[in-house]
Amino acid sequence: MFEWTGSGDGAVEAWRIEVTGTVQGVGFRPCVFREAVRLGLSGTVANIPGGVEIRVEGPRRALEAFCRRLREAPPPLARIRSLTVRPEAPGRAGTGFRILSSREDRSAAAAPVAPDVATCGACRAELFDPADRRHRYPFLNCTDCGPRYTIVESVPYDRPRTTMKGFAMCDACEAEYRDPANRRFHAQPNACPRCGPRLALLDAGGRPVAADPLREAAERLARGEVVAVKGLGGVHLAVDAAAEAAVARLRARKGRPSKPLALMARDLATARRLGDVGAAEAALLEGARRPIVLLLRRPGAPVAPNVAPGVHELGVMLPYTPLHHLLFAEPACPPVLVMTSGNRSGSSLCAGNDEALERLAGIADAFLLHDRPIAARTDDSVVRVAAGAERVLRRARGYVPEPVALPRALPAVFGAGAALKNTFCLVRGAEAVPGPHVGDLEDAETFAFYQEAAAHLSALLRLEPEAAACDLHPDYLSTRYARGLGVPVLPVQHHHAHAVAVMAEHGLEGPVLAVVFDGAGLGPDGTIWGGEFLLARPAGFRRLGSLRSFPLPGGDAAAREPWRPALALLRAAGRAGGDPDRPPGVLRQIPAGSRAAVLRMMELGLQAPATTSAGRLFDGVAALLGLRARLDYEGQAAMELEALAHRAAAAGERPAAYPVALRRGAGGWRLDFRPAVRGVLRDIGRGAPPEVAALAFHRWLSAATAALCRRLARETGAGEVVLGGGCFQNRLLLEDVVERLTAAGLRVYAGERVPAGDGGLALGQAAAAGFRLQGGA
Ligand code: ZN
Ligand code: ZN
Ligand code: FE
Repeated sequence: MFEWTGSGDGAVEAWRIEVTGTVQGVGFRPCVFREAVRLGLSGTVANIPGGVEIRVEGPRRALEAFCRRLREAPPPLARIRSLTVRPEAPGRAGTGFRILSSREDRSAAAAPVAPDVATCGACRAELFDPADRRHRYPFLNCTDCGPRYTIVESVPYDRPRTTMKGFAMCDACEAEYRDPANRRFHAQPNACPRCGPRLALLDAGGRPVAADPLREAAERLARGEVVAVKGLGGVHLAVDAAAEAAVARLRARKGRPSKPLALMARDLATARRLGDVGAAEAALLEGARRPIVLLLRRPGAPVAPNVAPGVHELGVMLPYTPLHHLLFAEPACPPVLVMTSGNRSGSSLCAGNDEALERLAGIADAFLLHDRPIAARTDDSVVRVAAGAERVLRRARGYVPEPVALPRALPAVFGAGAALKNTFCLVRGAEAVPGPHVGDLEDAETFAFYQEAAAHLSALLRLEPEAAACDLHPDYLSTRYARGLGVPVLPVQHHHAHAVAVMAEHGLEGPVLAVVFDGAGLGPDGTIWGGEFLLARPAGFRRLGSLRSFPLPGGDAAAREPWRPALALLRAAGRAGGDPDRPPGVLRQIPAGSRAAVLRMMELGLQAPATTSAGRLFDGVAALLGLRARLDYEGQAAMELEALAHRAAAAGERPAAYPVALRRGAGGWRLDFRPAVRGVLRDIGRGAPPEVAALAFHRWLSAATAALCRRLARETGAGEVVLGGGCFQNRLLLEDVVERLTAAGLRVYAGERVPAGDGGLALGQAAAAGFRLQGGA
């Protein structure tokens, strides 16, 4: 491990130890200090670009023990990437051990800033200890917990460069901060009721309410009011999750008719009443990151039906700030709160107090705010456990800005991301740093947030990209942003980027088979792709096959109105000519004239672009099964179709899958969906429950996917398959495909730390461009 061999054990040696990884803002220097003092070593520790530098002197055996301790027992939040040792001439360290402040550092540091961390057990104990000086203080934290990324304005990570700079520490806090034996030693956001941020409750008009803010907020929640609660990365809108009328009021005011709302449960026992919590889910719920965890909803879950209509999961998180813990400890507080992003539907999260009062006016009945500013707006992250692993669906608080290790060092590239569910990604050396979830880049406000977040994270990483990567689609705002950066721009095809995101995360350089199922992405042939089988390397790909194509009458409207793809599927299956008075599913709700007009658009090829989209196939089948003619939010019909199928699977139904038909044409393999559409029609025609047909459709798609993969694996010799695209956020599909491919002897990979959907696209873009710049074939 250490190549250097020096003199005997007794003589004093000097080592320079460089540690890289997530080692700033996580209590690493204090840990170094304590170990050095314990072992009687002298020297210094300081932050340097990319990590921490330790200069230490002492007997060799003690130095070795010191390194071993750092490797084996680093602070809980530290992630050591490398630890290298170089001998130096002894005699420079002097006596004692010191932590050098950033000002004393030789250089401006740019080690990664850590993600925000949920309140630790020790701080929680103090919070509820009447004898503690921080009893009931909503902003306590320590080196193991508290805000990080959301308060950092610039690097190196030190209090004057955080939003805590306006709070001068009192003597007691300062003493803790300077005492190496204290667990608040160098805890940058350290604070107490005397010197730190304060809480206030304001009424709907922004006027202070003269009452205990927490008790009053809890009582208002219990009465069904909507309370805006400022958290780590932004403002939530909270309401009693069991109160149907209150939830309905929140939905109406926010303009969000049916999209599922996230919940915060008082504790793990309460979460278990909401959904199925296995060991993996419990670890995520109670872990330091505290994401929203999607749980299979339990019958009788104590929440109003309008919290998550039509879906079979509930998104649940546990309290992650002292403020949340105190709120739930109020006797009046409901045990489960809706905690949804504080915004009007579709726009970005509010972070500033004035901004919240202005933008949430008319939505919130009261505001529970504080005076610690938010430097970086950050939403809650969303995860699910599927196919045996944690799958991040929305990557933000608790995860950003943690890097993802790449298989090799790449040039500095900015990945601009997609149009919907956007985030960007920065690649630096052998690391990629995905930015926080931004949202749908469809309005000026969200685009402004995108630019702000990209500039902020680039500054924290001191990264100046040599190149930018973007989608092939010229009209995405992210594409335009990339083109405005003044560096070479490399467009990356959408589905190739999805594949490379999975490859990058899992350290694969290919060639691999990639199955990418999603809503839409522009293909190099100008058509809309979305059900793709590729042979992929990071720098390029070949399309081996796809879903059989079908027209999308109305273009963009077809993505919002599943009855349109439903009609296209019927027509493709040769069943559009049936009794016009008795069309299947939701087509019954569509006037015969509109149906005829859309059929005619397809006959004439007017405004009916061809697509191979798996997402639209799901939408169309959902509509044929009677789910919905129009969407309130992206992915709704597909989620409801999965929920139906899940119900059948949970009831033990085992319908035979519809026939698989694979055909080889001039453009490669075609996976023909028509037998599945005919099967669905036959099933509903003979009165089978739509649940069973939904399950049979899922089974058909996984069987067909696995069958085509087996063939392609034989043809190409590839033994690895990556699964990407938003459709693989469907648990049933993912687990079934993984199982079938694994049984066929293939190694299967899907997104884990990075979303399978468009939230993971930027990583794939940046990595693909980085490999291309390096001249990979
Ligand atoms: Zn703590
Ligand atoms: Zn204080
Ligand atoms: Fe996509």
